[in-house]
Parts: sequence; structure tokens; C-alpha cells
Amino acid sequence: MPDILMRQIGCSNCLTMSRHPVEVIQRILELQDLKNATHFNYACPKCGYVSRQQIPRSEVHRFSADEWQLFPDDMRVYCVILQCSKPGCHFHVVVLAPFENDADLSDVTSRVGNWMADDAACATGSRPMRPFGIRIAKPWPFR
Ligand SMILES: [Zn+2]
Ligand SMILES: [Zn+2]
Repeated sequence: MPDILMRQIGCSNCLTMSRHPVEVIQRILELQDLKNATHFNYACPKCGYVSRQQIPRSEVHRFSADEWQLFPDDMRVYCVILQCSKPGCHFHVVVLAPFENDADLSDVTSRVGNWMADDAACATGSRPMRPFGIRIAKPWPFR
């Protein structure tokens, strides 16, 4: 069994941490469609604060497949794509967002409605439209 590489993300508001496989963050960056990205948008499952996170580069947590079982996660990560507020912008605001495993689409929609978007932005730096317009909300693997 290969090791599982994880990155740890902390909420800049309440400091709650969550862990995500490296491939999840890579996929979010691809969807964000920004070359040489340094940040991505992350929604904290605890306080609902959406902030720009620096892409963690150095801190990779390595777990064996067995150890990974010791870190049960009651969350499932979603990619939520919000409408951009800038007229004519063809980028959307791509957000990495963990939700409870049993959350259905209506739970996700109401949680997103309560998000506080701090400095979340699209690839050109524009803010999401208010109230939030969800274009896509898909659980991993985001297909
Ligand atoms: Zn938080
Ligand atoms: Zn935009």
C-alpha cells in the first residue's frame, strides 16, 4: 500500500484544521484555472468562513493506509463553484469545502448561503456575487 500524502489546512478565522489528500488540492487548482496559483479558496466547515489559503508546499503529512484509518473523517470534500461578481468575467470562484458525509445537496446549498466570504476570489481577484450563486457543487472526485 502506498503512503497517503495529506495537506493540512487551517481556517484563518477559527483555526480549525482539516486534512486533505494532495490530489484534492491539485484538482481544485486545476479547476481554478490559474497558472502559477499561490492561493485557493477554502470554506471552513466549522465557522463557515471562506478565505484564501496559501497553497501549502512544505508541510506534507504522510500516512500509511493503516494509519489513515486512525484519522476517521466525518467530512466529505466538495468543490463549490460560485458565480463571480465581475460582469463578463469568465472565471468563477472555486472553493474547496468540506461538509458532513451525510449532507445532501439541500444541506450544502443552505450551508453555502450562510458562508462569510472574507477574501475569496476568482482567478482575476474578483469577489463572488452576493447572494452567492452556486454554479456547481460536487463531492470528490468533483466529476
Ligand atoms: Zn473556521
Ligand atoms: Zn471573476
